[in-house]
Order: sequence, then C-alpha cells, then structure tokens
Amino acid sequence: MTFQHTILGAGLAGLSAGLNLARGGRSVSLLEKEPYVGGLAASFGKDGFTFDLGPHRFHTRNQKVQAQVEELLGANLHWRRRLSRIFMLGKRFNYPLSATNVVRSLPPHLLARAFFDYFAIRLRNRIHPIPDDCFQNWVLKRFGRTLYRLFFGTYTEKAWGIPCTQISADWASQRITLLNLMDAVKKTLFRPKHAPRTLVSRFLYPARGGIGALAESYASGILASGGNRILTGAAVRRIRWRGERVLAVDFAHQGTEQSEAIESLISTIPLTTAIDLLDPAPPEEVLHSRRSLRYKAIVFVMLALEREKVTDDHWIYLPEQHLRVHRVSEFKNFSEHSCPPGKTMLAAEITCNFGDSIWNMEQDELVALAVADLEKVGLIEPAQVRGAHIHRERYSYPLYDLTYREHVQRCLGWLKGLKNLHSTGRQGLFQYGNMDHSIAMGMVLAERLLRGAGADHSALLAEEEHVDG
Ligand SMILES: Cc1cc2nc3c(=O)[nH]c(=O)nc-3n(C[C@H](O)[C@H](O)[C@H](O)COP(=O)(O)OP(=O)(O)OC[C@H]3O[C@@H](n4cnc5c(N)ncnc54)[C@H](O)[C@@H]3O)c2cc1C
Repeated sequence: MTFQHTILGAGLAGLSAGLNLARGGRSVSLLEKEPYVGGLAASFGKDGFTFDLGPHRFHTRNQKVQAQVEELLGANLHWRRRLSRIFMLGKRFNYPLSATNVVRSLPPHLLARAFFDYFAIRLRNRIHPIPDDCFQNWVLKRFGRTLYRLFFGTYTEKAWGIPCTQISADWASQRITLLNLMDAVKKTLFRPKHAPRTLVSRFLYPARGGIGALAESYASGILASGGNRILTGAAVRRIRWRGERVLAVDFAHQGTEQSEAIESLISTIPLTTAIDLLDPAPPEEVLHSRRSLRYKAIVFVMLALEREKVTDDHWIYLPEQHLRVHRVSEFKNFSEHSCPPGKTMLAAEITCNFGDSIWNMEQDELVALAVADLEKVGLIEPAQVRGAHIHRERYSYPLYDLTYREHVQRCLGWLKGLKNLHSTGRQGLFQYGNMDHSIAMGMVLAERLLRGAGADHSALLAEEEHVDG
C-alpha cells in the first residue's frame, strides 16, 4: 500500500503534520522508532505515577494551534498557574527574574556590586561597543558581570558543558526577553498591560495522562480518519534517493526489514540522523556540516517519594556548580492525578553528552547522585525515596555553538534539492523550540502541501520571543 505522505517521527511535529494532512483528505503513514508516540513530549506510567521528560507546560500565542489543542484535549484540558524558581545562595529566586525579588533576596554587597557592574558595563559599551557575538557578551552587555555570573552564566555553562563564549547569542535572545537590568526594574514597578511571554503565568496541562495525552489525542485523530497508520517501534534505517527525489525508506519493525515507497516524505527526526540515513550519501561538504552539529543529551532521574509533596514549584533551576542536577520538577504540581495518594514524584535532570560518563552511569549511581544533590539543597531526605526510573534522551537540545547556523543552513540547503522531502520540527530544523512551535511547523507544512506549495518555516520561531526547556 502506498501512502500519499510518509512521516518520519511521531513527536508533536510529525503528529501535527499527520493530523492536518489527514483532515485535508490525504493518507498518511507515520514511522516512529520508539514504542510510544510523543517524542520529547511523551508521558510514561509506572506504579501509579504518570511522568513526563522533565517539566512540560503548554502555552502559545498561535490561535490556530491553541484552538486545535483545545479541541483535541476537550474535557481533559486544564489551566495551571505557573511557579518556577532558581535556587541559589540558599534562597529561591523567582523565575523569570523579578527585580523586587532580586533586590529583596540578594545580599546587600552583591546587590551593590550588581548595580555598579551594570552601570560600568553600560559606560564601557558606549566607548567600546560590545558585539553580540556570543552568549556571554549578549548577557554581559545587558546585565553586567555580577548578574551574568549569578543567574545566567553559571547555569548555562553547567547545562551546556561548554564555555559561554562558545555558545551562540541566539540562545540568549530566544530565552531572555528582558532587555536589561533597568528593563527588569521598570517591568516590576510598572506592570505592563500585556505581559510578555516569559511572564505568562498560566499554562495548559492535561488533567490526566501527563503531557503525553496531547500526543495521544493527535494520534487518535489521525487514526480516526481511516486509511492512515502509525507504526511505533519502526526505526528508519535508510532513505533511498535518486536525482531530485526520495524513492523509498527502509525500516525495521518487529524484527523484520521493511520498505515503504515514497510519494512525499516529511522528516521530523534529527537533521543529523536524516543526513546519516541518506543512500547514497550526500557530498562531503554536507557530511562535514552534519559532523559539526551536536545535540545535548539529558539523563532524567525520576524519584518516587513517600511524601505528600516537596514544593509548590513546577520546577526549580539549580545553577550552582557543585550540584550535577541542573533542574528539578514535581509532577504533582502539574496534575494532582499524576501520583498515588500520599506520594509524589520528582524529575531530576542531568545534562550530558551521548556516550560520556554520566550517559553510561549505572542506574544506582545516577539515583545516588540525584538524591545526594536534592538532599544538599534541602528538598528531600534519602529515606523518603521508594523507587526510581531512569530515562536517557540523546537528542534533548540542539547545541547552539558559534557555527551551528552555517552548518544547519548547508544541510537544509542540500536537502531542499530533494523535492519531495521536507525536514521540519525541533529536530528536523535543528531549532530550539517549544511544543507549540513543533505543532505549528507541522500545521504550516501540512497547509502548504495541501495547497501544493513547498515548505518554508524559517520565520516561525523568529516571530516568537521566548522558548522553554
Ligand atoms: C527537558 C525538556 C523540557 C521541555 N519543556 C517544554 C515546555 O515546558 N514547554 C514546551 O512547549 N516545550 C518544552 N520542551 C520542548 C518540546 O518537548 C519539544 O519542542 C517538542 O516536543 C518537539 O517535538 P518534535 O516532534 O519536533 O520532536 P521530537 O519530539 O524529538 O520528535 C522526533 C521523533 O522522531 C523519532 N525518531 C528519531 N529517529 C528516528 C528514526 N530513525 N526512525 C523513526 N523515528 C525516529 C523520535 O523517537 C521522536 O519521537 C521541552 C523539551 C525538553 C527536552
């Protein structure tokens, strides 16, 4: 059987493309290597707990995306009030940073130094303008050295594992919407009528089933149209092409090697994987760019605790260098149905590189490391831990180093030559975005394909001010 569209990956981008094409009357086949749908936004169930891959809050400014998500989740859709903080110097600071909170909580000598540094860097910038050529300079220029070190630099270096001078300024401009320290003060003193995206305090989260309920409802919508299929546990091994077209994909499913002839192919799998799978291989310059692109991995340590609750926070950042865990979240604060009565569950995130010592660490050691860190910051006691679950995610963050843009452009530019292949989504575009961005990318691509036009989502993320985790 030939499908009009074959989609690689059943994360939100693939599912959104699939649903919107199916609703437009097209037949779709989704091939997903994992035994579940949802990709990074999947949920898992174990011993009565429901958990996600770290904190996932849904919010969007895109009305079409909002309307589709509301329709699909129906009565399962619930609004939450956001609380997230940064834990450092033994205190919890609001996240996003609020000037009043910083002023009240920072020791006076650090506060004085923060203001001094801020004005010093403003002056220096007037005489010798500081270029926005890396994350460090972008933040230094706007906040001064003290706030940079305290709130931005240490956390970023810890999460990325490379110096902030090696990280692209794109990372800062997509994550930090405050323009500078004075902007933060003004925003606190004179509350704006329309809150910017970082200050959005409400978000959507399913009442039951974790964030993965969203992906599940997309999958049900695709299958409801009839004539479509979603194959999970189907790892794509080869993308065969000739001239300007992809001819077929080969994949392994339930122990057998299978092939699917391609009319139109949508790839939401990592850009690097898609390049690796091409047969024949693309030219050496494309392979060189592919080798230059790296993804950051995360090991998630979920801890089941015999305790009603640990915090009221959805998540807490832990920037201090002596802790390996960089963020901890509590699922019960996303949905009270996520844990059995009298119990709670935390997710401790540890960033690493695929194949390094953290990635390869045994489960017991990872649990011991996470428990020790959370004990150090006073969140839990080891005796409360009743169980643990480890999840390793290789393609968690596209790594925005100083040269990533040119390499992404070269890879995508070459792929454009294959007229019936469209690479999209967070992984397919190597673009750090949120769930709503991936849904929007799938939606826009489907609309264009239904109209008979090619894909172009380069502007999608640029319109947005802020991305989460
Ligand atoms: C820790 C963390 C926290 C986050 N928090 C938030 C948040 O609070 N709010 C928010 O909006 N967003 C958040 N995000 C981002 C959000 O999860 C992603 O942007 C979104 O889920 C990406 O969807 P996608 O379909 O583009 O990619 P993915 O979900 O990565 O989907 C790609 C799919 O391709 C599959 N695949 C890969 N290789 C193959 C192959 N060879 N064959 C077949 N299939 C393959 C993968 O298994 C996967 O299912 C967070 C992300 C992380 C990592």
